[in-house]
Amino acid sequence: MKEGLDILFALQQKDDQLKEIESIIKEIPLKIKEMEDERDSRSEMIEKAKKKLQENSEARKKLEREIAVIKERINKYKEQMKKVTTNKEFQGFNNEIKFEETNIVGVEEKIIEKMIESDEIMGLIREKESEYGKIADEYNQKIGDMRSNLEYHRAKLAEETRSKKELRARVDPKLLKAYDNLFVKKVGKVVSCVQSDFCGVCNIKIRPQVLSEMILSDDVLICENCGRILYKKIADEPEE
Ligand SMILES: [Zn+2]
Repeated sequence: MKEGLDILFALQQKDDQLKEIESIIKEIPLKIKEMEDERDSRSEMIEKAKKKLQENSEARKKLEREIAVIKERINKYKEQMKKVTTNKEFQGFNNEIKFEETNIVGVEEKIIEKMIESDEIMGLIREKESEYGKIADEYNQKIGDMRSNLEYHRAKLAEETRSKKELRARVDPKLLKAYDNLFVKKVGKVVSCVQSDFCGVCNIKIRPQVLSEMILSDDVLICENCGRILYKKIADEPEE
């Protein structure tokens, strides 16, 4: 029976290892997604700035068209002025022209504001693009590494699952059945490796009588506190 317990403990270790690999496999895609999102959010900033630049350019064109319309109006007034007969009419057109010319100055000021804004946006785009170029390479490198790591762990999982199958075939069927039942109840932790005289899982001190039984008899002994199968390494190698 002692040999059976050795294999059972090896099976427990294998299950522990598989659990760890599975959790790594679950975690890596989340980390990849996180990294991709982070990388893409940097390029989104560039896209937003480019859109703003486009809007700026459209706004400027609109203002330029406004000026053209005003100038057209002024020309019309000038044409009409040539035909006036009274000084009052002349003054009227002159005032209109002055008013429109002031309007042009106002629109031109707005255009200058837009030009300054455009320079600022272009500066921001250049800055973000150069920043993005550098970090995107870094991100892609890291993402690539994580993908390789994922592949490695998937292969490892397949390999260890095969090895677990082999191990299970070596365990006494009755013991294996008990292990499988407890595996569900004890959320994957069935065999407790006794450290000196403490249960390796729940840490309760094991009675000396149980301890000596563990060494002397072939019975499967259960931790009186947590109900796990107790296992003590009886090996020539020194304990930790
Ligand atoms: Zn215990």
